[in-house]
Amino acid sequence: MINLSLVKKHIIDAATQFNRSPDTIHLLAVSKTRPIIDIVTAFKQGQTRFGESYLQEAIPKIHALRDYPLEWHYIGALQSNKTRLVAEHFDWIQSLGTLKHAQRLNDQRPQHLAPLNVCIQVNISAETQKSGVLLSDLPELIAAIKEMPRLQLRGLMALPAHTLDFNQQRVPFRAMYHAYQQLKTVNFDTLSMGMTNDMVAAIAEGATLVRIGTGIFGARIK
Ligand SMILES: *Cc1c(COP(=O)(O)O)cnc(C)c1O
Repeated sequence: MINLSLVKKHIIDAATQFNRSPDTIHLLAVSKTRPIIDIVTAFKQGQTRFGESYLQEAIPKIHALRDYPLEWHYIGALQSNKTRLVAEHFDWIQSLGTLKHAQRLNDQRPQHLAPLNVCIQVNISAETQKSGVLLSDLPELIAAIKEMPRLQLRGLMALPAHTLDFNQQRVPFRAMYHAYQQLKTVNFDTLSMGMTNDMVAAIAEGATLVRIGTGIFGARIK
């Protein structure tokens, strides 16, 4: 059972409530741990953007679904020895957080593919165990990536500290929105924030892309 239409309705309701145009909010279906059949079902209901976090399961799925016009986003933690797999198989990476990884992805992006779309992951809650750059280091990383021809910088991504309180959820999202407005450069069009449990707060604060897993596919198996 796939709740795609219900999630889309929630996005429209939240947009309406916070005076935003629903067509400025895109939906990434986070399909990590889900079987291929679920992705095909979602595609048949009109979904084309999918997010994966684990390369070991993502690459076989991307390969199996290569004849479908899907857009694949890598949203998982990145290690240096995995950048090549991302560069060769994905359309987007949203979890870029270091200059070294940017350089490797730029070097490894195959010439026959379009530049890799990039969102920089911001450690907005400044948690020591979280990946992503601190806000203070963001301008420097943006400037460096802008010079890399095989990367197309599209915006920012955040995964704030977990809380179920709506007003608390809005605080880091608002900080992300300010950073996004302030640092906006050419081709910047993506503010990726909001998951199943904090989607409404993210939309209230200006998200242009929400990343939804359990809300669409149900509780994760793993
Ligand atoms: C798993 C994951 C999501 C989706 O989370 P849900 O709570 O299932 O909607 C979104 N973003 C990232 C980075 C994730 O790892």
